[in-house]
Amino acid sequence: MMKLTIGHLYPELLNLYGDRGNIQCLRKRLQWRGFQAEILPLSPGSRIDFDKLDILLLGGGPDKEQALACEYLTRIQEDFRAYAEDYGIILAICGGYQLLGQYYQTAESKLKGLGVLDIYTEWEPKRLVHNVVLDSPFFRAPVTGFENHCGRTYIGSYTPLGKVRYGRGNTGKSGYEGLVYKNILATYLHGPLLPKNPEICDDLLRKALLRKYGSVRLAPLPDEMEHLAGAMAAKRLHKPVFC
Ligand code: GLN
Repeated sequence: MMKLTIGHLYPELLNLYGDRGNIQCLRKRLQWRGFQAEILPLSPGSRIDFDKLDILLLGGGPDKEQALACEYLTRIQEDFRAYAEDYGIILAICGGYQLLGQYYQTAESKLKGLGVLDIYTEWEPKRLVHNVVLDSPFFRAPVTGFENHCGRTYIGSYTPLGKVRYGRGNTGKSGYEGLVYKNILATYLHGPLLPKNPEICDDLLRKALLRKYGSVRLAPLPDEMEHLAGAMAAKRLHKPVFC
């Protein structure tokens, strides 16, 4: 039976706003199609065999936990980068997104990131806390989620995940949110992201199955309720946000 192994990096430190729910969503949507899913919680300090991973989730965390995660991440930096460059599937959310970059300058210190992406993040006192709706060139339905961050992420010439229709996004000013590079999807959206946006979940699964087994068809699932909820949110959240 075909199986995907999903690693959850540092669940003890990086798991804000139910980011763990993304793992459940990946697992269930695989199982509903008759695939197997193995979940590997990867604790700080544990040895990680990146060759065994098909999808890696890096969730969000408060600045303090991020600083702790950072120390452990430096130890696996090389393998992590190799996995990313080799089109390993990575979902990085908020704090996890920031840590993929060169650095995150917090109010107190400069946290060195993994340097997987040539981006950087700077802390500002005004916290951006909003529901978010994006128009993404990668997905048919508007992407919906929730953001809560002080960091502003500058992504240079990377392709953003989407254009902000509602909420603030990467810097609060650029008008864009998240980024997509190779098989990395990085975003500020918690919520959790995947149950709210099943299209994104299936995209990650499809990429992981393709990378491991070659092309595999994912049978459609009855997502009418999810689409309805997304459409309702997008309709309700239409006025621009001003801070
Ligand atoms: N600590 C980071 C910030 O405030 C990320 C927070 C988060 O993951 N929600 O920007």
